[in-house]
Amino acid sequence: MQPSCEDELNTGLLTVSEAQERILDGVPAISGTETLPVREALDRVLAVDIVSPINVPSHTNSAMDGYAVRAEDLPAEGVCEFPVPGTSWAGRPWLAPIKTGQAVQIMTGGMMPEGADTVVMQEHVERNGDTVHIGSGHRQGQNVRAAGEDLAVGQPVFTAGRRLTAADIGVLASLGLGEVSVTRRLRVAFFSTGDELRSVGEPLGPGEIYDSNRYTLYGMLRKLDVEIIDMGVVRDRRELIEQALDTAAARADAIITSGGVSVGEADFVKETLEKLGRMAFWKIAMKPGRPVTFGHINNAVFFGLPGNPVSVMVTFFQFVRPALVKMTGNTGTPDAYTVTARTTTALRKRPGRFEFQRGVLEQSGPGEFTVRSAGAQGSGILRSMSEANCFILLDPDRTNVAIGEEVTVQPFLNLI
Ligand code: AMP
Ligand code: MG
Repeated sequence: MQPSCEDELNTGLLTVSEAQERILDGVPAISGTETLPVREALDRVLAVDIVSPINVPSHTNSAMDGYAVRAEDLPAEGVCEFPVPGTSWAGRPWLAPIKTGQAVQIMTGGMMPEGADTVVMQEHVERNGDTVHIGSGHRQGQNVRAAGEDLAVGQPVFTAGRRLTAADIGVLASLGLGEVSVTRRLRVAFFSTGDELRSVGEPLGPGEIYDSNRYTLYGMLRKLDVEIIDMGVVRDRRELIEQALDTAAARADAIITSGGVSVGEADFVKETLEKLGRMAFWKIAMKPGRPVTFGHINNAVFFGLPGNPVSVMVTFFQFVRPALVKMTGNTGTPDAYTVTARTTTALRKRPGRFEFQRGVLEQSGPGEFTVRSAGAQGSGILRSMSEANCFILLDPDRTNVAIGEEVTVQPFLNLI
């Protein structure tokens, strides 16, 4: 769904899940692909379906070190002696067809000689010079891996939209594929707004602070493996913000700004945005991170995040990240998940808004977790994000949480 005028006029609070849904509906998957060597495609999103060009394994082979025989030659009872004409090594097959009553020594991965259908494990025979004694109790076809058993020619292997894992690039290599087509990297531009902001390396004047949002955003974007365009700090001046947004829209698929979306006097971003694109200004019933702007400037998607350092991280994680993942063409299951944990500290919570408190999650036993508060929860206290390894998700209805109560927790995993 595209944001509409109704959104702007709507002064009511949006729920977190409504905002998440509208944002996801409002972002496109980018087009554009590139072909990469398979190793470089790790963590990238597959752009095409992959169909197996070969059988894996390509030949019927032994799953064990042992002796390849014809099952019909095996004794029903007692022990038989088999002459051993030679050995089928992995990669160095015994090329002669097996003759009645013979046992060809075979190594794991060795190609089955023509006519043999069964492998008897080395541990189950007695070798005497050029012959081997094999007893009863074996099953036809045992210890044999059929050609195409892993993947058969023409069989679908992966569908487009899959983020390639270490196992996946291994599978691609096992098919003999050296290159693979993936979606191009998403280009994401961001800048901070605020007259009070200084960049690292500059001295601080009275009332000034260092810009940290560009660092937290950079870090979270890096983990998404997108192309990052850091546009620095933009002063709270209409022309400068307009110019920065113009440049960003021309260069990026997505633009993220922080600050300037509240009702403070120096906040020009809102007016400028209204002029430049189709925008929705939402007050979301959440804490922290209430004001969030979402919209489009030309072909770029725009996310206007609040200025407070914790709010930036929370709103990025809850709204922007899933949207960027969708934009890369990734249609796999979301990578963030929740678990239930018992809290070991009391949590203060007023009803009305969804709260994302910062917590420290620990495993207390198999399948059992505890969580404690990561400390002061102010939206400007970035340290609480550093201390934390999870969000504690508290529903709007929830009130104070006592020690021992269960809460839903969303681990940061390696995503933050
Ligand atoms: P704003 O949304 O612009 O009114 O900013 C809200 C609060 O976040 C203010 O206290 C700002 O000083 C602070 N803030 C805004 N941008 C940043 C930033 N990039 N780094 C650190 N603090 C910021
Ligand atoms: Mg500001």
